[in-house]
Amino acid sequence: MSVGRSVPYLDLGIQHDRMRTELDDAWHSVLSTSSFVRGALVEEFEDAYAQLHDVAHCIGVANGSDALYLGLRSLGVQPGDEVITTAMSWIATSASISLAGATPVFVDIDPNTYTIDPALIEDAVTSRSRAILPVHLYGHPADMEAIGALSSRLGLAVVEDCAQSHLAEFDGQKLGSLGDVAAVSFYPGKNLGALGDAGAVLTNDARLAAHIRMLANHGSSPNNKHEHPIEGVNSRLDTLQAGFLSKKLAHIQEWTRARQRIARLYSAALAEVGDVRTPSTPSNGVHVFHVYCIRTASRDALREHLRANGVETLIHYPTALPFLGAYADRARGDSTFPIARRYQDEILSLPIYPEMQDDDVEYVAEKIARFYDSK
Ligand SMILES: *Cc1c(COP(=O)(O)O)cnc(C)c1O
Repeated sequence: MSVGRSVPYLDLGIQHDRMRTELDDAWHSVLSTSSFVRGALVEEFEDAYAQLHDVAHCIGVANGSDALYLGLRSLGVQPGDEVITTAMSWIATSASISLAGATPVFVDIDPNTYTIDPALIEDAVTSRSRAILPVHLYGHPADMEAIGALSSRLGLAVVEDCAQSHLAEFDGQKLGSLGDVAAVSFYPGKNLGALGDAGAVLTNDARLAAHIRMLANHGSSPNNKHEHPIEGVNSRLDTLQAGFLSKKLAHIQEWTRARQRIARLYSAALAEVGDVRTPSTPSNGVHVFHVYCIRTASRDALREHLRANGVETLIHYPTALPFLGAYADRARGDSTFPIARRYQDEILSLPIYPEMQDDDVEYVAEKIARFYDSK
């Protein structure tokens, strides 16, 4: 009997083995400066990231959740305010709103893009609404044209959650440059990952950028660390992480192309398989496939079949935000978010990472096809 193949959901080891010399260099140069928080390497990374994303300012912070919180705070979001966001995301999205003292107000997702449905936003607006927080979920751009039009008409700020969308685009423009501020995550498993926690806030507004820098550094004034015009928090990007991230930034375009190629292979192989719905290709943007998410009514059985064949899958996310225990006090019926409610039981994230081999992609696709053949 042949030994079964095993396909992990993600294998960071390959990337790090290939980059060992570069990563060692980064570590040695930080050690030799004895500068471990902020400093020149952080600025270098911030500038390079901003340039690659066509945005004027990038402020490195401790993680993506802080980036969302700091972005909201910089816009003056405060207790009593409401921030409209999507029903399908990771909890950091909505928790950052609560951390800023505001209330997250959920809106159901678009059935094709899985991002916030702009047609439903206006119904969620009240006199307390301050901002819209779209998430470019899985690396697929939210409809920034509709969101931008609504926000100008209704006088709301826009905070983009770009944790999963490094280098993704909408209408020829990089995501992260379309709202008032954007939050980026460099959590190790993201498309651009540090070797630990890290994040950044992006903005084109110099005044907001200066404010975010102060907020992220105890409210210290830029020229005098013991002068505090405001209270802030400790949320800084470690120099070491910036060093690693600069090395990785040089590969992000190539890694993104590899993800897109794997997605194309999957989508071609799964086009006619069972009731599998492959991800939509944005008509007006670029998807960077942080997650390759399919949908099927037999999700749990398919997942078990893949597990039995050595294929690791994940679910992003098994419980849509409004149905989490943290929001149980809202007492909303399932019918309030019908798409998110249904999709949470149908979505399945297939293995994807830039170094994944074509024959592994083919193996996964073939095992999926086999599952439906035998049904
Ligand atoms: C990862 C993630 C975050 C949070 O980023 P961290 O760096 O882990 O704090 C926020 N929103 C979304 C959609 C994410 O995927």
